[in-house]
Amino acid sequence: MQLTADFHTHTPYSHGKNTVFENAQRAKEMGLSAVAITEHGFSHVFFGIRRRQVDSLIAECKAAEEQLNIPVLVGIESNIRSIAGGVDLTEADYEKFDIFLAGIHDVIKYEHLSDCKIGWGNLLRWRFGMKEKPSLVKASTEAYINAVKNHPIDVLTHLNFRVRSDAVEVAKCCRDYGTYLELSGKKAHLSDEELDRVVQTGVRFVVNSDAHSVDRIGDVARAFEQIERVGVPLDRIDNIDGRMPSFRFAEFKKHM
Ligand SMILES: [Zn+2]
Ligand SMILES: [Zn+2]
Repeated sequence: MQLTADFHTHTPYSHGKNTVFENAQRAKEMGLSAVAITEHGFSHVFFGIRRRQVDSLIAECKAAEEQLNIPVLVGIESNIRSIAGGVDLTEADYEKFDIFLAGIHDVIKYEHLSDCKIGWGNLLRWRFGMKEKPSLVKASTEAYINAVKNHPIDVLTHLNFRVRSDAVEVAKCCRDYGTYLELSGKKAHLSDEELDRVVQTGVRFVVNSDAHSVDRIGDVARAFEQIERVGVPLDRIDNIDGRMPSFRFAEFKKHM
């Protein structure tokens, strides 16, 4: 198993340590065909990129791409902000970005008070090792599904990281809408048993590092270990062994 491209990395625009150039340089050294810089979305209270910074992010990606001769995609890891599936990337932002990731994070501005539970509620239960609360699992599942239905999201990041949702139902929706599920090199966020059931849905995957520092660019060893353990068919993973994914956001933008 060889990674073709890493579609989830951060820089100091959103809590990462190294520059766009350094991330791209490392990706090039590792023999990757492309790298995406995917900053945390605007509603992330501490780590989100600000809209006023996007033009300079674009300029840095372009400069790195030209100097290093490797595609450097301008990306966002948007925050899912409500059970109704609201996200913090608007259609007016679309022209500035090449790739649209989305995930649930805790310290963000939610749309309504009642939406906070998908972040804070899940975080507290995870932190204190509390058992699943069915109404919260339902709300989190709905948030993921509604986000995928209502927005041209390329990749759902780290499904069920500090969140409990019905991963199989989320996967079915991703399969139907052409959104990839990410298998993260940071940590296996789905149990082996859960991933096995997710695989049965027919959803497609990408493997990413979620690197916040240059030493982790392209580091997907943990994901590869789980893929082998569970026996995920390799032809269902679209950014390994020379293959590149077909992303829905780029396709959507062609018809805007
Ligand atoms: Zn994330
Ligand atoms: Zn991330």
